[in-house]
Amino acid sequence: MSAAAKLFAQISATIPAKPATRTLRRAVVLGGSMAGLMAARVLSDHADEVVVVERDESSGDGPRAGVPQGNQGHALLAAGGVQLERWYPGIVDEAVAAGAVTLPKDGSRSQLWVNGALRPRSTVEADVPVLVSTRPFLEKLVRARTVALENVTQVPGRAWGLEFAGSRVTGVRYTHDGDTEVVEADLVVDATGRASRLSDWLEEAGWERPPLQRMPIKVNYATTLFAYDEAIADKWSVISQANAAGTADGRARIGGLLRVEHDRWIMLLSGYVDDRPSADPEEFAERCRRDFPDIFGDIATKATMVGEIGTYHQADSRRRDFHAVSRFPAGLLAIGDAVASFNPVYGQGMTASALHASCLARYLASSPDHSQPAKEYFDLVRVIVDAAWRTSTFADLALPHVEGPYPRGYKVIRWLSGKIFTAALTDRGVNQRLSRITTMLAHPSTLVTPATLAKALRPNRKPRNATR
Ligand SMILES: Cc1cc2nc3c(=O)[nH]c(=O)nc-3n(C[C@H](O)[C@H](O)[C@H](O)COP(=O)(O)OP(=O)(O)OC[C@H]3O[C@@H](n4cnc5c(N)ncnc54)[C@H](O)[C@@H]3O)c2cc1C
Repeated sequence: MSAAAKLFAQISATIPAKPATRTLRRAVVLGGSMAGLMAARVLSDHADEVVVVERDESSGDGPRAGVPQGNQGHALLAAGGVQLERWYPGIVDEAVAAGAVTLPKDGSRSQLWVNGALRPRSTVEADVPVLVSTRPFLEKLVRARTVALENVTQVPGRAWGLEFAGSRVTGVRYTHDGDTEVVEADLVVDATGRASRLSDWLEEAGWERPPLQRMPIKVNYATTLFAYDEAIADKWSVISQANAAGTADGRARIGGLLRVEHDRWIMLLSGYVDDRPSADPEEFAERCRRDFPDIFGDIATKATMVGEIGTYHQADSRRRDFHAVSRFPAGLLAIGDAVASFNPVYGQGMTASALHASCLARYLASSPDHSQPAKEYFDLVRVIVDAAWRTSTFADLALPHVEGPYPRGYKVIRWLSGKIFTAALTDRGVNQRLSRITTMLAHPSTLVTPATLAKALRPNRKPRNATR
């Protein structure tokens, strides 16, 4: 196993959170979304007081302005559920009691279609059942559990800068109702998402910007909800992915369907570049019938649509390589999309954030010297970012409009992955191993084992009939 894979396995551990000595007086988290809330949860074990500064005042049931992607279909990967349960024991049961469902482990309610062919059913190996819900529902549960901690508070405010003293960050500036507030902190965590301005703040104060890597993906989304009706379909999770070579019009696209809380399905359709699913219900239904397996068309034409269709465009996958800067102030961290955000079709964001929170826990448990930059933290986060980036950007390099950047050895890796994906169509073991990587339960390098290679390179394999 590679060193990165070993570290990935340690970060992903399911060891329950243990009481720790509080070595920080106050920690401030900027942004109270999934990453910020999980950071606050972890910090609550290590700081006397944790303050979350969030610009959105509303934190109800529905999508909110600060998270414009919140109305789009969000899947929580198996590893995300495992980590959430680690930080919030019982949260999956709580979600189910509040109206969400978990996917049966035998895969009977799930389907994965690749280029129009149904993949063999794969069972879920995670210890925690896979929870399906809308994004605002999950965030509401996470927020409730986080702010219920005796030393965590969320305050309304828009952060706009940092306070520095010598080589460390000492606080945060934010505005609320036109007034500027300054809050002192031993540790500041940026969780303001992919549009984070932290790099600007660092540069303005004479520090180095973390290198920014971008892969232009130009992905378009449309999502809506339907009333769940078992007479129309009995599936709770359906993913249909097709690459450019697998569709009649040469356009890659992904569709997703999840049974979410309060007896609804959430359905998302995606396309790239000028292939833009619109907010028009007729066009949405037409796309479902034309471009996706029958279940999409059946639901879009027979089930009752609840609410409107929301659309979204994301220009790129991006990562900020904090681990690569040579000068960085002490008392400052970043987490979640503020570090890296990927093509959303792979559903990695919330799970990566949960794993970043586990990096934070591991870093804080090592009794770090808070007068020094948190290099060890960023080295841990890098392991998670590299893993997610490798899986998502590698797949995106197969899109006709994506022109790099290409990793070293791309052609060989592509050839080998093609063989492994083909083997996964017929071999349950290879399929399971691949699923562990796509659900972030395992590091991508664990895919290549002598046994997997032997199966992938064996000639003349015949596809096994899939179970519907
Ligand atoms: C279309 C789409 C679909 C997606 N689907 C999935 C999926 O299926 N599965 C998945 O796991 N992930 C998915 N993601 C990614 C997921 O939304 C994020 O990775 C996840 O929300 C973690 O993000 P975050 O908490 O780091 O940032 P965000 O959720 O973006 O939150 C940032 C927070 O910071 C606040 N904020 C911003 N600036 C300031 C400021 N100056 N002061 C105070 N507060 C501020 C915002 O109000 C917000 O609350 C998807 C993303 C998109 C765009």
